[in-house]
Amino acid sequence: MTLFLKQNSSNKIADRLDLVGSRVASALSDRIRLCNQNWNIAEGQGLVNGKTGATFNGRILLWNCKSRFCSFCVSGISTRNRKISNYIIENQPKETYFCGRYEVPYEWRFVVLTMPDDLLIGLSLFHQREVFYHAWRLFSTKSKYFKKVVSGGIKTEEFTFDYALNPYHYHGNLLLYCQFLNQEQFKKDWTKYVKASFHHYGLTWQTPKTKSKLLNVYLKRVVDQRVNEDHNTLISVQNAVKYLCKYVTKSQTWEDVPLLDLKEITENRRFWRMFEPFGSCRETAKPIRPKAVKTPAKPVVIVNYRAGELISLLSNGAFYVHSPTINATTPAFAPANPAHAPPTKLKKKSWFYRISNNLITNAAYRNELINNFIQIRQFRIKQLQALYPNAKFRMLDGVKFHGESCICGACPRGH
Ligand SMILES: [Zn+2]
Ligand SMILES: [Zn+2]
Repeated sequence: MTLFLKQNSSNKIADRLDLVGSRVASALSDRIRLCNQNWNIAEGQGLVNGKTGATFNGRILLWNCKSRFCSFCVSGISTRNRKISNYIIENQPKETYFCGRYEVPYEWRFVVLTMPDDLLIGLSLFHQREVFYHAWRLFSTKSKYFKKVVSGGIKTEEFTFDYALNPYHYHGNLLLYCQFLNQEQFKKDWTKYVKASFHHYGLTWQTPKTKSKLLNVYLKRVVDQRVNEDHNTLISVQNAVKYLCKYVTKSQTWEDVPLLDLKEITENRRFWRMFEPFGSCRETAKPIRPKAVKTPAKPVVIVNYRAGELISLLSNGAFYVHSPTINATTPAFAPANPAHAPPTKLKKKSWFYRISNNLITNAAYRNELINNFIQIRQFRIKQLQALYPNAKFRMLDGVKFHGESCICGACPRGH
């Protein structure tokens, strides 16, 4: 998606959230709008990749709203998920099993689990997801067949939207590290647990109208070669990962979701986890996941009036002390030293908590958001100079920093 389309899509969703008529949705809308402002988005030239040493040009957001509705933040989530998927595929310990007298290696399979859309007519997106997820949990933990043949995998959830009676088509994509899969057995068990989930939620079940009277499950073998996208039984590793993570690129899908459903989704604090390694793959992903989940350092900057110094807290708990005037060009990174520690403040409750419990008005929150942004912006500009000493930046609103005539005050190339 181009820059303009991304901003456009985010702003459309922000407009829709304002129409929802809930305080949480409107605070979320403020956050998304802030994230997509021209003065939050910088284009950097001459950035250096820490690992390869290659220079590149890139886009950097000074502040992130981290919402799934935001095109910028969602593409960050997508990149992260692709990294985790590729890491798992490369590092998964090899396993074998016996097929008669033959020892056979486990293989990667791509699987799509479908839901009976016509039986879910009238249910909100949130509830359709609950029915799907309950079925998935039963299937992956109770099915003897699944447990026997599947070592681990990655599950993602996706929905598409159209104007049918049930506008949502909720489904699951799986990348499995497994033995040979018997499609009939897989369908049987998936159907059994979807039926059990229907029962759990008090929904009326009907035998699927498919030829096999079972829910459709699509299976493809994942191969290490180029494969036509429409191939029935084979899929390339690249395409499997692409499909697995593609839902996140479709933030526009949210533009169509009815307001009532948006309200329900935004008022539930925890957005469901749409990307989830499980079984042995969860173990494989361990070394990369904590790092991958951590977003670039977003320290809290506290102004210490006593000494006229700035104390910047880093996300790893360390902090550095620097004076805005004397020592601004070389901020000294210091390990946590109790003597310099900023006064411990009670951890502030999340914006979501404070808005939904009426502890803060929307107008006051908007104010706080902007003030936080101004502090973070100052910190991030300094941080970018430390991270990329030779790069120069231009905000989308035209403001430049760290270039030939930098105004940041911390730049050796300044003035
Ligand atoms: Zn955002
Ligand atoms: Zn500068």
